Amino acid sequence: MKKILVANRGEIALRIMRSLKEMGIQTVAIFSEADRNAPHVFYADEAVCIGAPPSNQSYLLGGKIIEVAQRLNVDGIHPGFGFLAENADFAAQVTKAGITFIGPSPQAIETMGSKLAAKEAVADYNIPLVPGTDKAITDVAEAQQIAQGIGFPILIKASAGGGGKGMRIVQNAEELPTQMQRAISEATAAFGDGSVFIEKYIGSPRHIEIQILADTQGNTLYLFERECSIQRRHQKVVEEAPSCVLTPELRQAMGQSAVDVARACDYVGAGTVEFLLDENHRYYFLEMNTRLQVEHPVTEMITGIDLVKEQVNIARGEALAFTQNDLAINGHAIELRVYAEDPKNNFLPDIGRLQTYRRPQGVGIRVDDGFEEGMDIPIYYDPMIAKLVVHAENREQAIEKMKRAIAEYQIVGIENTLAFGTFVMEHPAFISGEFDTHFVKKHFTPEKLLVNDAEEAEIAAFLATQILATSQQQSNTVQQESTAKSRWRANRLW
Ligand code: ADP
Repeated sequence: MKKILVANRGEIALRIMRSLKEMGIQTVAIFSEADRNAPHVFYADEAVCIGAPPSNQSYLLGGKIIEVAQRLNVDGIHPGFGFLAENADFAAQVTKAGITFIGPSPQAIETMGSKLAAKEAVADYNIPLVPGTDKAITDVAEAQQIAQGIGFPILIKASAGGGGKGMRIVQNAEELPTQMQRAISEATAAFGDGSVFIEKYIGSPRHIEIQILADTQGNTLYLFERECSIQRRHQKVVEEAPSCVLTPELRQAMGQSAVDVARACDYVGAGTVEFLLDENHRYYFLEMNTRLQVEHPVTEMITGIDLVKEQVNIARGEALAFTQNDLAINGHAIELRVYAEDPKNNFLPDIGRLQTYRRPQGVGIRVDDGFEEGMDIPIYYDPMIAKLVVHAENREQAIEKMKRAIAEYQIVGIENTLAFGTFVMEHPAFISGEFDTHFVKKHFTPEKLLVNDAEEAEIAAFLATQILATSQQQSNTVQQESTAKSRWRANRLW
């Protein structure tokens, strides 16, 4: 492959193109009108505007993207994550157009894109599943019967679900009819498929996922685990590798199960098998994501393997250049997703301009982002500003490094999750490793961030008075006060 089009935007488009450049492969970027000045556009050898800002008029236009690829004599398309990455039809159309889709087969995407089909596919492989139904359920009376058998609380989930949508916890029989109805409408609205099923609600689970790589010659390996239990709205914010609760035996067992899940759908490429781990360290298969994950860098840091390069090599038909025994865990890595969200206000997305934007630096720090100072965070897409990743010899050092990196990171103009990251790194439950997916609900309240703000507010008020004294324009007062406060906070290095 000599030229690859990256059918994505922002940080992941850049991250992919960086690896392609190292491989001597030419890159083609696509962009919407909102991203005309985005770094991924300038980084690519060629870039083509494909439409208006809303993703259904640009990044989701599979046919148009394929046309561009054909016109520019592209050999392969890398979908990144989100947008068309798990769209089986797009993968099939790409292949039909004579272009290599850098990802698994449309069949594998389709099977694993449905949580129910995935459960069915792995049925012959002795993979532990969360107790529940293996078929879509519509009848409330039947659902009541199953729920009684499993025991409340139960979880109603959308088969086509993703991003934590279409999931409803049901505490008792009375709640079941309304919650089931809500789950069905939410699933229909979000995915165009109202199929829901029932799972036992695991009370205190950890979300642990295994990275796998499978080549076309029949080699399937696991690249250890990522611990992704620090979540808000069932979505990850902090991830780390390795997990501090896996024993070598459990790691091997889960790794083998992940390889079996991949084999069950003849998987080729990089993929992630997600599991829940309960208090008794029993694990259950949740789903498989048939793409690169947002949190893939923590695996890259501890294994030294560039997953994008492996994806390309696999797509070229090459055999993996290493075996399971060649793989080892080196040190510890933590990732913080720096979202344009306000943790003090229920993690609601924020928009605006990156008035100040300075990345942390130094040994063991990696920032994957797609913005520069002065740019606006567009409202049309995922509100992630960056992925801040650290790597150190062990977990304690990685936590210290993350705290230092967050303190150095300067973001002014947009609410973000940096301070929340510090809260996590300093929390005794995180430090001790005794946490589950309810960490945020159990331990975090907005006041936890406001404590620091109170001290800051005092100093900011002093700064604001000084600004007021010199200010010529009374009308700008409010804005300047907040800028002074933010700037002061951003310059804080502890
Ligand atoms: P999605 O595809 O929407 O991300 P997942 O099945 O991957 O849904 O689950 C996302 C998160 O929801 C998990 O990490 C976990 O926090 C929670 N979850 C999912 N299934 C269960 C369950 N059976 N019991 C308890 N929590 C669950």
